[in-house]
Amino acid sequence: MDARKRIALVAHDEMKPKMMAWATTHKAELEKHELIGTGTTGGLLASEVGLEVTCLKSGPLGGDLELGNLIVNDGLDMLIFFWDPMTAQPHDVDVKALLRISAVHNIPIACNQASADFFVTSRWFSAPYETAQPDYTAHINRAVQADT
Ligand code: PGA
Repeated sequence: MDARKRIALVAHDEMKPKMMAWATTHKAELEKHELIGTGTTGGLLASEVGLEVTCLKSGPLGGDLELGNLIVNDGLDMLIFFWDPMTAQPHDVDVKALLRISAVHNIPIACNQASADFFVTSRWFSAPYETAQPDYTAHINRAVQADT
């Protein structure tokens, strides 16, 4: 991935104040990158923090799945996702799908503030990084064999 990253920012409702505070602290680092947010999170990052963010649909209306689509099609480099471990989400299956597809494509995911702190202070945050591409050939071949 390039020095300038395509970074998704997502926060569940109870975590939004924490993400706004975190993004305010790291505004100077974040604005060097292309930022993409789920609808409500992205809107708040723009209005409260003053960041330029491309807003997708709200998470419960498909925003997490839109992020998954970007990941599958090489349109996203990193995910900063303050998910709420204490509140049931109506779109829980979408959250699970987003986390899974991030793992499939070896996308760095920060799931809480401490990991997000590590991300922004990493030497790779603003430098090119060679992502190891997982090889799923054996898996695909197994599936094809099972089908014949
Ligand atoms: P939101 O979506 O930013 O639109 O609130 C986040 C989520 O719940 O996944």
